[in-house]
Amino acid sequence: MPEDQPNLFETQPPAWEQDAAASICAARVVLPSGLTRQLDYKVPDPLRSQIEAGRRVRVPLGRSNRSVVGYCVEVVPEAKPDRPLKEIEAVIDSRCLLSRELLEITHWMADYYLCPWGQVLDSVIPAGVRSGAGTRMVTLLSVPAEVAASRGEHRLPAKQAAILDYVIAHPESIPAEVAAAVGCTQAPVTTLRRKGLLTSESRRMAVETDPEAVTPQEPHLEMNEDQSRVLASIMTAIREGRHETILIHGVTGSGKTEVYLQAIREVVSYGQQAIVLVPEISLTPQTVSRFRLRFGRVAVLHSHLSDVERHRQWARIAAGGAPVVVGARSAVFAPTPNLGLIVIDEEHESSFKQDTAPRYHAREVAERRAAAAGVPLLLGSATPALESHARAMEGRYKRVEMPRRISNLPLPGVATIDLRAHQQDRHNRGAISRQLHRAMQEALDDDGQVILLLNRRGFSTHIQCPSCGQASECPECEIALTHHRGRKQAVCHYCDYHIPVPNQCRACGFKGLNFFGRGTERLEDEVRQRFPAHTSLRMDTDTMSRPGSHESALDRFRSGEIRILLGTQMIAKGLDFPNVTLVGVINADTALHLPDFRAAEKTFQLITQVAGRTGRSKRGGHVLVQTCEPDHPAIRAAIRHDYALFSAEELPLRKALGYPPYGAMVRIVIRGPIEIATREFASSLGERIGAACRDADFQFRLLGPAPAPFAKLRGKYRFAIQLQAEDPLALSRAVRDATEELKTPEDVQWIADVDPLEMM
Ligand code: ADP
Ligand code: ZN
Repeated sequence: MPEDQPNLFETQPPAWEQDAAASICAARVVLPSGLTRQLDYKVPDPLRSQIEAGRRVRVPLGRSNRSVVGYCVEVVPEAKPDRPLKEIEAVIDSRCLLSRELLEITHWMADYYLCPWGQVLDSVIPAGVRSGAGTRMVTLLSVPAEVAASRGEHRLPAKQAAILDYVIAHPESIPAEVAAAVGCTQAPVTTLRRKGLLTSESRRMAVETDPEAVTPQEPHLEMNEDQSRVLASIMTAIREGRHETILIHGVTGSGKTEVYLQAIREVVSYGQQAIVLVPEISLTPQTVSRFRLRFGRVAVLHSHLSDVERHRQWARIAAGGAPVVVGARSAVFAPTPNLGLIVIDEEHESSFKQDTAPRYHAREVAERRAAAAGVPLLLGSATPALESHARAMEGRYKRVEMPRRISNLPLPGVATIDLRAHQQDRHNRGAISRQLHRAMQEALDDDGQVILLLNRRGFSTHIQCPSCGQASECPECEIALTHHRGRKQAVCHYCDYHIPVPNQCRACGFKGLNFFGRGTERLEDEVRQRFPAHTSLRMDTDTMSRPGSHESALDRFRSGEIRILLGTQMIAKGLDFPNVTLVGVINADTALHLPDFRAAEKTFQLITQVAGRTGRSKRGGHVLVQTCEPDHPAIRAAIRHDYALFSAEELPLRKALGYPPYGAMVRIVIRGPIEIATREFASSLGERIGAACRDADFQFRLLGPAPAPFAKLRGKYRFAIQLQAEDPLALSRAVRDATEELKTPEDVQWIADVDPLEMM
């Protein structure tokens, strides 16, 4: 390994001062699976210099003393145990994987999100870090002190003598290096080891090297008044070195990113690091380059990294080698040694909540982490989650507003098109109404670009027999199959099930099935027929599955080669293309009546965000929203860009039912292959939880168990219990009490989702 590269895996300084070591003898260990209790193990003397909270250890478990890996979470003076403690077999990590701060946060997560601590730890430390991906074992040579002291007494052949002298001068050299320096084979090294004149030690070393650091090239922008005002209030918190959560409520195009960048510059100038969380979909090379151009060394953590790459980034961050970390949700756990600031852009995005255990929300974790580190947390959005809005009203967050776009550009005008009228128009059977068609034509004639949003994939979303009425459904999920014309298949969007497009009814054999409901694939078809002279591109998870396809599509749109970009919510977010003069929402109602108490909020956010993609230059822009419900409060508020109006209408509804942000919620989903058995278990679970809530004597509301909106998925019947109360901790505690000793039947599974975002 060349001299100038930092060795990321150098041994850490000994964990304990020598005198402290005498009184510290036991390690408290949690296991990643199985037992959830913490276990105490004796630390044998030779391991005392290595043991440390935050490292993994190998320990014997159970009667058979089978060897397992666990996390040391605390080192304690050995209490007087009833039985002698078993001993730790080995300390696995040569460095600490979790700071005390992250240990405490993961402990809180375990408690709050109802997930065993060991499982939280395993999910927070990337697999590549745990396995040491990309590292290799190397042998390091040294000369024992007594041999070095008596060097003159050893008469050795010339090569061996030269080697010994070299290693005395260069301790911890690797054999090949020594042999090369002295100009011999490795044979004399082996001889010296055999004689005991050289000792060797195995250690893990990084093999990958750091990429070229990019030198910052881009100057910071001159800020406008709003930006300066917001930055000033962030600076106050940064300079005073205190924690504060600041919610930047800034309309689309108000220049929030520049504010983040300059706040980051401040903490970086103190030698601290900043973590920036963005939704995975926004983590494009373009976003990353905005940070790289300002700060040079930026570590990027996204879900497509290989284990080796992730490990390398992680090690680099831990070594303080990256002043800025940009990443999706899990970057909130980045091991920055000296954290100065956390930023969450588009804080309302549901992708900040993890949908597998531990089901944490990165905003909540970030808040705890920033508080523990005594640093500010910046949340930015044009449509803050109502949870964040409520916290700002309570004064728990500080709200700062950026109500204007950069350069005083106006927000785009938004008009609705009543789909009920359009649907009666016999001459117009497509997804695009006359008005929208005309507006598209004008925008294109004017050299503008168009974005069309339709939040449904596929060609037809329903296949039905006109004779018997039977709809084609997935047998595993009992959900309508979507016709994908390109793939020539009928596909279930919730599992892998797919069949060739049926040409006759499975139930009655009738030939001539009806295909209803439009998806993006069919919209693409219609756009090509209506505007054959203009290139269009569809962007959804079907067309954007290859790595890099998303970015290359955006490049083609940016260059102007693509004139019409159509797609699912993928296109609604964050894009900044000055030439987009028209945005069309094909159907604003797709999410409006889902059985989800956030349906209105999600609709408001989606329309506001997609509308924000236009009018981003002097060229201006406008938005047409097709809907059957132009008077729905969420749609009325969205077309006026009026967050205050939306929240004023929505919050009282939430309050009346005790829904978030006015109360806490835990959703429990039970699933199993046999409907009756699953339902029975769900009922008994519901009763136990109800009893635990009554025992704890707090006000609560328990709904269900009832079949979940998706009552069957992937062959499993699903039931849901919805539990609400004012205090989230009371809820978590009650669920834990109710389920601690619970025996779950073999083929039934259940999960508890605290602060659920997914209600289906
Ligand atoms: P938001 O995230 O609030 O929607 P962006 O941060 O994407 O807005 O900013 C919108 C556009 O304005 C970007 O192209 C950005 O480069 C530009 N911009 C931001 N701040 C300034 C400024 N102070 N002067 C000139 N242009 C700016
Ligand atoms: Zn299915």
